[in-house]
Amino acid sequence: MFGEPVLRRASGGGGRQTVFRWECRCQDRPVLLATYNAHGRINIKVRDRYWHVLGQVQTICPRCGAEHVLDLRGPTPRL
Ligand SMILES: [Zn+2]
Repeated sequence: MFGEPVLRRASGGGGRQTVFRWECRCQDRPVLLATYNAHGRINIKVRDRYWHVLGQVQTICPRCGAEHVLDLRGPTPRL
């Protein structure tokens, strides 16, 4: 299960998987908080480990300290 690179694009006939960036825009270059895909799976990289989260996750921007909530439980992702 774990240990697979999660951002690897699907190869073969299925087409590529779209990955969205969840970021804090407090800087000129937005701070990446996590990524998520159209299926609602959130991918968070912490040091050498990937965390896969389904549903809702909260984090604090390492730059500005703002708390962010990503909730993908509904039909339409809310930021
Ligand atoms: Zn920030």
